Amino acid sequence: MECAIMGKFCPLILSSPRILMVEKRNVLGIRDRFKFCSSKFKIQALEAETHLSSQVGAERRGSSTDVGIGELVWPSPSDEIPFWEKDFPSWGVSPEVPADINKDSDRMHIIHVTAEMAPIAKVGGLGDVVTGLARACLSRGHTVEIMLPFYECIQKQQIKDLALITTYESYQDGNWVLTNAYRGEVSGIPVVFIEPSNHFFKGQFVYGGSYNELEAYLFFSRACLEWMQVTATQPDIIHVHEWQAGALPLLYWDMYHYLSLKKPRIVLTIHNMEHYGECSQEQLSKSGLDGSIYATIDKAIDDRTIGHNPERLSLLKGGIVYSNAVVTVSPTYLKETLCTGWLASTLLRNRDKYFGVLNGIDTAMWNPATDSFLPVKFNAQKPEGKKLCKYYVQRGLGLALEGTLDGNHLPDIACKVPLVVCITRLVPQKGLHLISHAIKRVEELGGQMVILGKASDVRVEREFEGLAKLHNQGPSTRILLMFSEELSHMLYAAADMVLVPSMYEPCGLSQMIGMRYGAVPVVRMTGGLADTVFDMDDQSNHDRANGFVFEGIDEGSLNWALDRAFAHYRDKADEWNGIIRKVMEVDNSWNNTAGKYVEIYNSVRVRL
Ligand code: ADP
Repeated sequence: MECAIMGKFCPLILSSPRILMVEKRNVLGIRDRFKFCSSKFKIQALEAETHLSSQVGAERRGSSTDVGIGELVWPSPSDEIPFWEKDFPSWGVSPEVPADINKDSDRMHIIHVTAEMAPIAKVGGLGDVVTGLARACLSRGHTVEIMLPFYECIQKQQIKDLALITTYESYQDGNWVLTNAYRGEVSGIPVVFIEPSNHFFKGQFVYGGSYNELEAYLFFSRACLEWMQVTATQPDIIHVHEWQAGALPLLYWDMYHYLSLKKPRIVLTIHNMEHYGECSQEQLSKSGLDGSIYATIDKAIDDRTIGHNPERLSLLKGGIVYSNAVVTVSPTYLKETLCTGWLASTLLRNRDKYFGVLNGIDTAMWNPATDSFLPVKFNAQKPEGKKLCKYYVQRGLGLALEGTLDGNHLPDIACKVPLVVCITRLVPQKGLHLISHAIKRVEELGGQMVILGKASDVRVEREFEGLAKLHNQGPSTRILLMFSEELSHMLYAAADMVLVPSMYEPCGLSQMIGMRYGAVPVVRMTGGLADTVFDMDDQSNHDRANGFVFEGIDEGSLNWALDRAFAHYRDKADEWNGIIRKVMEVDNSWNNTAGKYVEIYNSVRVRL
């Protein structure tokens, strides 16, 4: 069924672009010609060949009709509302916490203190991990809550039963700031939202507001403890995440433990060692602690600044020293962090309480069989819907198609043009030079590539805007510079391969999510990528083989992996279908690893 709507264009890279449709005839095999412009730059005279690629090979008719496409409306780049911004039946997240999990006999009360939570305040993997781990522990029978800043950008309609529960005061820089605590439910998890009456956490985004971020998170850390104190809430475990909550263990042991909080023990998870919460003594003092007493090597001083004027503190280091247990997000990253980086000496000194626990993914939230963002659902046993997801995304983005639409029938899809996706924050860690090189290489190899990425640095954003301008006009590459949860789900479902060429990667969720959606990972062997992806051509590890791995940080190394992945895809089609099934069946769920966190919680908790 053809249903392209003439009118304004959907944004390829921008959130509110103006697009002009010049001409579009939606008959396959006929050249679509359209032009669009935006507030940031123009893409002129786009001529997208949407006729069948010459490489598609023999057509196969009569595709299965049991994939449940129902009244599927095929999208088009000319749709007024981009296909990933239409209304979806729900946020795609089952609020039901899986109940069919064995319950732990010894139940605990765990409170997470975090700067991110998926999907309401997600920037990267931190948000996914907090939500996934919380849901896994809830389903094991524990009492779990999340404490989150009440960012102005949070969409309140995504919170169930939101209600003001406490108005109290928390300390900041000589003043007591009136603060509201709200309670609500997100994805089945009880959440306490902390809303100070000052300017903290205001703005359009989770990070990058016009307030001092360090001071805001220092405030938040104390405000969480203050809330526990005024409400007499004494969990077994306060699980803090990243530098943003790194001061909480200091505040707990040197202040609130001397006041009323006796029972909690603190677990810190470090998701990324690159961000260490650089802080001056004066800034730390704004939390009510005496910043000067933490400026020692065995407390929170940033070792690299010793003897400098001024010396600096690190909230992350302080968090490591003062927490009862410290976890990082994969065994390989744990080893890497003990050998490299300035925090290695601190971690070595605290080795007996430092653990590597591989992240999981929430397989209820990331489930191609039920995902409400997908046009067609599929699973490992019935993967046919994946082809339709690919076709849907290709059509929606104006990429060259590999199939024909015949009236109301399903498209015949040839599958000779691999679609590679890369969904990432655009930061140096992620291997920016390799991501931009991949665009070229995938094009040379006759594949297609979609990058969904958000840059926080203006120079990186400009560089990728330049690439978008260069490539988005063609039939094989789309570079979409934005954050879209909905589109990310559709891209994982559409992808034949998911690329993660990181310079370092503490764990990486993208490769795990990709696998869950039948996209074969092509990754650099580092951190958690090395723990989850095993090379197809490594004969010694055939059972676990599930992707294509390279080691070097140069373009040649990436070429080697991409070339092999493309050769497998094209020359061994039957085997490839087997690989899809295999990667979809890999169990990277939290069920596998949440138990390790529970063991750690149990090892530090106290029974008063
Ligand atoms: P990191 O935590 O370093 O960002 P991970 O691979 O651990 O990397 O997690 C990234 C998470 O963020 C994944 O869920 C991925 O799908 C999502 N993500 C990254 N960039 C985007 C984007 N531009 N739009 C939507 N989701 C994104």
